[in-house]
Amino acid sequence: MINELTLQDAERLSNYIESMQKRATRSIGYPGSTDYDYAALFPLLAINLNNIGDPLIESTYELNSRSFEMEVVAFFAELFQAPANNWWGYVTNGGSEGNLYGLYVARELYPQGIVYYSEATHYSIQKNVHILGLNSIVIRTQPNGEMDYADLKDMIQLHRDHPVIIMANIGTTMTEARDDLGQIKAALKHLAIKQHYIHCDAALAGVYSALLETEPRFDFSQGCDSIAISGHKFLGSPIPCGAVIVRKNYKDRIGQVIPYIGTADTTISGSRNGHSPVFLWYTLKKHGRQGLTQRAKESIALAQYTANRLSQMGLNAWCNPGALTVVFPALSPSIRKKWQLATEGDVCHVVCVPGVTKAMVDDFLIDVQQEITY
Ligand SMILES: *Cc1c(COP(=O)(O)O)cnc(C)c1O
Repeated sequence: MINELTLQDAERLSNYIESMQKRATRSIGYPGSTDYDYAALFPLLAINLNNIGDPLIESTYELNSRSFEMEVVAFFAELFQAPANNWWGYVTNGGSEGNLYGLYVARELYPQGIVYYSEATHYSIQKNVHILGLNSIVIRTQPNGEMDYADLKDMIQLHRDHPVIIMANIGTTMTEARDDLGQIKAALKHLAIKQHYIHCDAALAGVYSALLETEPRFDFSQGCDSIAISGHKFLGSPIPCGAVIVRKNYKDRIGQVIPYIGTADTTISGSRNGHSPVFLWYTLKKHGRQGLTQRAKESIALAQYTANRLSQMGLNAWCNPGALTVVFPALSPSIRKKWQLATEGDVCHVVCVPGVTKAMVDDFLIDVQQEITY
């Protein structure tokens, strides 16, 4: 294909490919795993796969990967202990879409509901709340990034006449903190709130937290109503993707049958990526549940190693329990740029997802040591 381009365009493309390949070796600040090899799926790039419409209802458009999508979604439903025969879900374009879907379902149930989310919540939530025209209240966080449950209780008490929609974080973007469903449910019970909905934004930490059964648990057996995850984070995919799982009886209010596509329009977007479900399926099959669990343990060990080494250098570095994210005071702009370190306020972080190696961390630590010394 490249030799059908002009010489100039071909050169631009190959330079771009080279620079991205090089850049990828020093990306430790964002949570995308890179230890995948999808070369076996290359022939699918020549096919217009499209999972348009509902993943469960076959479409008249047959170039799709619905059967793979359903296997992937079923894996997550089981992992998150969704109630048998009462769950539904689909492969999304990412965690943000899954969060939008969860909130959409919540709004259909409780149009007068108020969304409560902590100040450490991902920026997609504020946007989603705005799109849906919902009212919301931001709750304070504790120093580790976890919701302040006393503040939650106070705020709900002030608005007791409204249904409660909770957006719980299972791994906040900056410090990978987990909100505790047990404490949230206790607050709802204490205030005798009958109409409530709990969505878990598990984009970052949902998959490995569930595999490792990290406390506090957050799945459907713990009382959540929907869960969103990102597929391009811990699992790893060159195309952004994710999944959302909801209780089916809630979701049944959404979507009409569309004759043109021969299926129901139950998802957020119309045309949907048909390749990403196959990517996710491939990763789930290749590693298996046990392999993924082992992979997560290795990543957590690397995060702890990184935090320990930074602490030994005198930096205030720390991890939340079971996290891949190492938090420490912001470093200089040059080191942040070199290692792609996301920064918020006066802290930055490294996320030890699979693909971040000990050798990369050690190289990074050399740079940190130098910066501290001079
Ligand atoms: C990444 C992330 C999101 C958004 O997911 P995308 O896949 O980027 O759309 C939402 N919430 C949290 C906590 C995240 O880390």
